[in-house]
Amino acid sequence: MKKLTLFTAFIALASIGFAADPTTVVNPDTALALLEKGNAAFIENPISKPQAVHDARISSIDSHTPIAVVVTCSDARTAPEHIFSKNLNRIFVVRTAGNVVDNIGLGSIEYAVKALGVRLIVVMGHQNCGAVKSTIAGGSIPPHINSIVNLIKPAVATARTEQGDLLSNSIQANAIRVADKIRHDSDLGDAAKDVKVVPAYYSLETGKFHWLK
Ligand SMILES: [Zn+2]
Repeated sequence: MKKLTLFTAFIALASIGFAADPTTVVNPDTALALLEKGNAAFIENPISKPQAVHDARISSIDSHTPIAVVVTCSDARTAPEHIFSKNLNRIFVVRTAGNVVDNIGLGSIEYAVKALGVRLIVVMGHQNCGAVKSTIAGGSIPPHINSIVNLIKPAVATARTEQGDLLSNSIQANAIRVADKIRHDSDLGDAAKDVKVVPAYYSLETGKFHWLK
């Protein structure tokens, strides 16, 4: 798939079946270490490198080679490329308020695994998540927002049975729950045995993330 754009890849895959280019596949442990290293660099020196971004844009026109899927919140404070110090073309982002996934989110993840060879899927909740706060607050919620809230509610219910801060516990329970959903509901085919799905929590305050299990 190295020479194909996303669109032409879809067309090609329809006729030949899903197959990632094995030469661009990064195993999940290596990808995980790269994210940890990138986050340390982000905290140390968060300044982006315009020339490197330019070069990556040009070099990746015909080569889409992310090392990880990151399912994260639409929250403007949680951009994964910044948090993990990764250039264009390195992180396949699935982004919704509350980092929940529906069938379209699952389809996006399956595409990244099957067609692009991604083997690490991170589900990253974050400190002070507004979507989770809204779920805890309850009340009258407009229908489309409510469809997000309904997906987060079970995590809040779990957190209500735990000691400690309800919001933080709910955010973490939600990331864990979404990771479980991806493990159970996605169709990753033969690649499933090689894929890791890891929930994480990102601190707005420190800029650090930690794995949840
Ligand atoms: Zn959020």
